[in-house]
Amino acid sequence: MPATAWDTATRRVIWLGEGVSGLPAGLADGRYECRACGGKLILKGVGPGKKVSPYFSHQGGGSCAAPAEETRIDAETEVVIQLRDTIRAIPGVTATTEVPDESPGASGQLPPVIIAQCDHVTVAIERPGMVLPEPEVLTRRVRAVRGRHPGALHVWFLRRDPAQFGPAGELEVFYGGKTHVHQTVAPTEQQEAIVAAGGHVFWLDGKQVLIPYGVHDFVHTPRPEQDWTNWPGWKRDPRQDWRISKPQPAADAGRWGLVPIALATMTHTRAFFRPQQAYQVMDELYRSQAGRHSWRHRHAREVYQQRNTPREPAPPVVSADTSRADQGQAQAAGERTAPPPREPAAAPPTPPAPPAGESLRPALVPPPPAYPPRPPSAAPARRPWWRRILPSGRRRSSR
Ligand SMILES: [Zn+2]
Repeated sequence: MPATAWDTATRRVIWLGEGVSGLPAGLADGRYECRACGGKLILKGVGPGKKVSPYFSHQGGGSCAAPAEETRIDAETEVVIQLRDTIRAIPGVTATTEVPDESPGASGQLPPVIIAQCDHVTVAIERPGMVLPEPEVLTRRVRAVRGRHPGALHVWFLRRDPAQFGPAGELEVFYGGKTHVHQTVAPTEQQEAIVAAGGHVFWLDGKQVLIPYGVHDFVHTPRPEQDWTNWPGWKRDPRQDWRISKPQPAADAGRWGLVPIALATMTHTRAFFRPQQAYQVMDELYRSQAGRHSWRHRHAREVYQQRNTPREPAPPVVSADTSRADQGQAQAAGERTAPPPREPAAAPPTPPAPPAGESLRPALVPPPPAYPPRPPSAAPARRPWWRRILPSGRRRSSR
């Protein structure tokens, strides 16, 4: 027996769970239709003195011609009812269900939407089934909900199963003073349609909610006098970097990164079902990305200088470079794709860099000749004097 029916008179879905008061019993001139098979339904169990709850039965008393669809629709509706009741249990929150698609063909494709309200905030919550319908159906749904509830946040809680969660690798990110690993997904056509229409796609993963931002992967273009190869401590190519789009993934995002937040933080705060915490993380990722991009370019220059510097002529410079390399290495080990905010703070070591860079520049050319023209008097004067004092090993190196 279907738990819902399409009402051809009001062009709305009747859901037994919401009550049937005011509706005529019986066939009612063929007013009620099965959402699964399209057959006529009879409303039974209504009226005074009835001992049973109201229910629909197919005309003729037989079972549904599309039993699998009927089962799916009822099961998905049941999940939504349970979620609605969970939301209703949150103090100060009211929750009702609606089926805003006012066409019989679309009515069975998505379960009802939950309209939750807290203070003056309205949130439309979707909990669709295993398979999302065509993008057009989703777009129509988002627009219908928006038409009924202007300004409402329209949240789609998807499932972490293969049909709705296509893993696209991990992303190491840095925020809140430490490194985090975010999962990324390849958005489907349906998910992109929801976002494009103004809805929000979230994933429910146990007691966590995964909230997406756009990940735009790109490759840094090496500039002159930069070396991007074989950075110590880097397992991946440092040229591979990314940009974020937020708070919603942009349409051209290659994949979506996911900020995990506790479901409780979305429901037990005044910011009811508003993913503020996730948006703050995205803001931090956005703020740090310019520093990360420029840090890598700077480091590529330092690596180049380090590798193109002969050791002999400038020992202090080499050690300075090494310390900076170590620093970069430590940062790289901790956080490869999103160097911490203190990475821009790695700029202070740069002051010594300009002189070092200048002194190194001549060194890029073949090593200086044995008799530099600059200290004409000092060198010849010192040389015989050294030879008398230094041990023979050092003497050899001075030649
Ligand atoms: Zn049917």
